[in-house]
Amino acid sequence: MLFDLHTHSTVSDGTLPVRDLIARARAAGIDVLAITDHDSIAGYEQLEGVDLDGLTLLAGVELSAQWRHTSVHIVGLNVRLADAGLREALARQRQARLERAELIAAKLAAKGFNGLLPQIQTLADNDCIGRPHFALALVEIGAARTLDDAFNKYLGAGRLGDLKHCWAPLAEVVRWIRDAGGTPVLAHPDKYALTRTKLNELVDDFADAGGQALEVVSGRQEPYKSKELAVLCQRRKLLASCGSDFHRPGQSWADLGRHSPLPANCTPVWDHW
Ligand code: AMP
Ligand code: MN
Ligand code: MN
Ligand code: MN
Repeated sequence: MLFDLHTHSTVSDGTLPVRDLIARARAAGIDVLAITDHDSIAGYEQLEGVDLDGLTLLAGVELSAQWRHTSVHIVGLNVRLADAGLREALARQRQARLERAELIAAKLAAKGFNGLLPQIQTLADNDCIGRPHFALALVEIGAARTLDDAFNKYLGAGRLGDLKHCWAPLAEVVRWIRDAGGTPVLAHPDKYALTRTKLNELVDDFADAGGQALEVVSGRQEPYKSKELAVLCQRRKLLASCGSDFHRPGQSWADLGRHSPLPANCTPVWDHW
């Protein structure tokens, strides 16, 4: 069975509409797919007339959260989409994104890039306004050559668009997912550029808050890295998840369903369902 439990559609910063994402997942031989758009479950409202053809779709979302000075991502799997608390939480995240976009736009204006916000809002013709939209706008006005260049110069870690303390605290985000019947998964633990000690502390805080799984495999990953994360799972008796973090065809880290396998010594998150 092939599980891809971390993917994006045009509802957030992916390039494929839900319908095309599902068709590509079927073609890739995926058995179980979670669409985990950033801070939005709107993709699950776009399923009318879509042929799943044997594909099992799990309700998912990737929530932004604050841990100390670091923004982290928590994937919620198997959430109840109709849950009122979750929907309220997503409305808050949307508002936080809007407020953050205003702050980023003001910082860019101070650098001479004026009036980007209306353009951003047009680009983000959805409920998930984010840094990728700024990257597109900066490329469009010629301030950056490519999206990567825009992140390197203006939006990525340590740059002016990398704002701190925009999100609800980690424990609260974990609680939202649990209260909606979902399984909280700490997404791509390797991507936060934390020291080993800090990563241990993050995992402890996540587990203490009710977090249940680590994303032991994200994209194509060196086996030694997956093994390290599997050891972290064992230390706190956490389950293991895996996903491509697919955003677009041709992305460098792994196409849909083409992530590395989970190490044998961890308990897959789907054993829990
Ligand atoms: P946001 O959710 O608004 O904070 O934007 C984060 C998203 O931007 C991530 O989910 C990635 O898809 C994308 N992203 C982050 N860093 C980079 C980068 N260096 N280059 C290109 N895209 C990036
Ligand atoms: Mn993204
Ligand atoms: Mn993420
Ligand atoms: Mn993601």
